[in-house]
Amino acid sequence: MRIFNSLTRKKEEFKPIHAQNVGMYTCGPTVYDFSSIGNFRTYVTSDVLRRTLTLNGYKVKSVMNITDVGHLTGDGDLGEDKLAKAAKREHKTAWDIAKFYGEAFEKDSKKLNILPHDVVARATDHIKEQIQLIRRLEGKGFTYKTSDGIYFDTVKYEKDTGAKYGELSTLDEIKEGSRVEKNPEKKNPRDFALWKFSYKGGRSFDSAQDDAASCRHMEWESPWGFGFPGWHIECSAMSMKYLGETFDVHTGGEDLRQTHHPNEVAQSEGATGKKFVNYWMHVTFLLVDGKRMGKSVGNAYTVSDVEKKGIEPLALRYLYLTAHYRDPLNFTWEALEGAQSALERLRSQVSNFSSQESGGGKGKVKEYRDKFTDALDNDLGTPQALAVVWDVVKSDISSVDKRKLILSFDEVLGLEVSKVPQVSKVPKEVRERVRQREELRKQEKWDEADKVRKEMLEMGYTIKDTDSGPQVKKLRVTSNK
Ligand SMILES: [Zn+2]
Repeated sequence: MRIFNSLTRKKEEFKPIHAQNVGMYTCGPTVYDFSSIGNFRTYVTSDVLRRTLTLNGYKVKSVMNITDVGHLTGDGDLGEDKLAKAAKREHKTAWDIAKFYGEAFEKDSKKLNILPHDVVARATDHIKEQIQLIRRLEGKGFTYKTSDGIYFDTVKYEKDTGAKYGELSTLDEIKEGSRVEKNPEKKNPRDFALWKFSYKGGRSFDSAQDDAASCRHMEWESPWGFGFPGWHIECSAMSMKYLGETFDVHTGGEDLRQTHHPNEVAQSEGATGKKFVNYWMHVTFLLVDGKRMGKSVGNAYTVSDVEKKGIEPLALRYLYLTAHYRDPLNFTWEALEGAQSALERLRSQVSNFSSQESGGGKGKVKEYRDKFTDALDNDLGTPQALAVVWDVVKSDISSVDKRKLILSFDEVLGLEVSKVPQVSKVPKEVRERVRQREELRKQEKWDEADKVRKEMLEMGYTIKDTDSGPQVKKLRVTSNK
């Protein structure tokens, strides 16, 4: 199996540390809001990687963190805490926010058929481990104190270890961007917080005084004063706790490649003196209507938004698989509808492949199986793997073998292809609109025809133009499982 390693910027043969067991860590969500369909592109990719490793005979231990302690809104160490901000917005405590959105994330993951991780590690359950790791770094002289926290000294780290900070990053130099307030007390711009004080100067809770940061719901006692961990330390502490000081694969969204992951490397390797992770995989951003997705733009759709349109979350999973994870994928509602109907077509094919008739082409079964595995083993070539599925559908091998093959492919794809497709009667009003639309199309009134199509969509029906005329289907509304 070959995977593209962001550390070396090369496709490499995957060689795990232990012959049979693979340890992988995925940077999970910060639970202050619903995760977007962009975030889920990363989590589905991690899931496909895990399933592909399993297909290759490895026993995978999958660990994901849940960041349930306040991150700051900027990329840096100043600014407002995301969880605290959400708590204010929703008139809840930060703990309630973390619980609510943590559960929502779990539900959405299930809907996308993401296998449960072996360990889901919450940052707030691992404060002790984070403090211990900072202590280790302190012991090596890689930390210093400012009025607002304990910081990691990237220059000292480079000098003492000979390591180069920020190798993972594609930026020439990690610097404080214009979005981020500059912190004048930092020795070097790239230094980052390991521990933040609730009270200026690191006072204890009792000597609390009026301070902007002192109305937090989440804070802990530490050797340096009352406060909370910095943005990055949880991932180092928790991944090493569950996977060892050196482990095989670490995945995450491409945004984490510039700061968060370089910081994880520096903290971990600074503390242990060992290599932290052998393979880094980063998933490219999802675009929406050709634009960058963002909460402020209003296009950061969620799994619930998909369901509200009557489209099932697994259609989204299908759509993700149609593009390679390192290529940009442009989300449009039309593309998602297309994915939904492709998935339904696949399911109806699979449900027809149940006859016991035996056919020829035994040799071809192996050929298809190899093709499918080769596609995934080549840096998770999911578009090619999907193409093999459709090749099998069209092939001349027996129905029984087709069914068996596609069901075994689904162990990796996770599309629930054996689900019985919903056959529904199309009501009269919808059928009338189909005819209306056909008429408009004949007259080449495309805009009006499209308006009718949208009306149908609002009524819960999709339409697809095939060689044998328009095909109408009721949108599937999946209930909470
Ligand atoms: Zn992380």
